[in-house]
Amino acid sequence: MNSILKIGKWDVYPLETGTFRLDGGAMMGSVPKVLWEKTNSADKLNRINLAMRCLLLDDGENRVVIETGIGNKNSDKFIDNFHIKQGIATLSNTLSNVGYSIADITDVIITHLHFDHSGGATSIDENGELIPTFPNAKYWISETNWNHANNPNPKDRASYLNENFLPLKDAGVLNLIPDNSDIMNGISTIGVNGHTVGQQLIKINSMNETLVFCGDLIPIRSHLRLPYIMGYDLSAIQTLQEKTEFLNQASKGNWWLWFYHDPQTIMVQISEGEKHYKVINEVRKDRQ
Ligand SMILES: [Zn+2]
Repeated sequence: MNSILKIGKWDVYPLETGTFRLDGGAMMGSVPKVLWEKTNSADKLNRINLAMRCLLLDDGENRVVIETGIGNKNSDKFIDNFHIKQGIATLSNTLSNVGYSIADITDVIITHLHFDHSGGATSIDENGELIPTFPNAKYWISETNWNHANNPNPKDRASYLNENFLPLKDAGVLNLIPDNSDIMNGISTIGVNGHTVGQQLIKINSMNETLVFCGDLIPIRSHLRLPYIMGYDLSAIQTLQEKTEFLNQASKGNWWLWFYHDPQTIMVQISEGEKHYKVINEVRKDRQ
């Protein structure tokens, strides 16, 4: 399969690793259901459907995966609670669809260690041991988020599951980095702290083109609107400030914004509108 975009010398591929559901009200924060259900319909338990769309980058030398999906270590109860649907959309299958294998990956970058972002980072081997899923990769994780994940507060403790990240330390594949780091060849991180402590957005900038993996700062297209802030966030006011500054830069720089959780919209470019930012380019899953 051809890449869907080129950012300088990086080929960009989406890796759809399945869907799950979260409470619609918790996703939309203070926005009432009469507004959000127009774009995101809820099931009878009030849950909305969310994608887990990782990203693969290849510059001919490095093969980088951003985010790892929810993984396949989950119990039946957990799968049922979150209505996880993976089908054959595991990381290794989605990678082979675009001509790669798990062993080809040189680097894995994770925005933050919540289970729906880091679950695929580790797997259970044939002896029942937890191991890194990508046997030849370095894992790039924010040191601030690592420290928080290992000592979370009661509000987001349930989202940090040790099995998803402690085996990376034991295997010696961890690369803990400061906020706002350069990783390699135009890939850098943008530290944000409203959603959780030490989330890193991933910016790919090459030959005057820019793509940003928005993580949970802007999980779905609806959240391009400033008042859409998740109830899950540790600090709504901090998210508002971070999102305001980020979207201002994104519209001025004509950045592509990549959505991990939007079921349909893969990425957009935006410009300043009268009331809200306007989407001027959109790549959707059903129109590829
Ligand atoms: Zn999160």
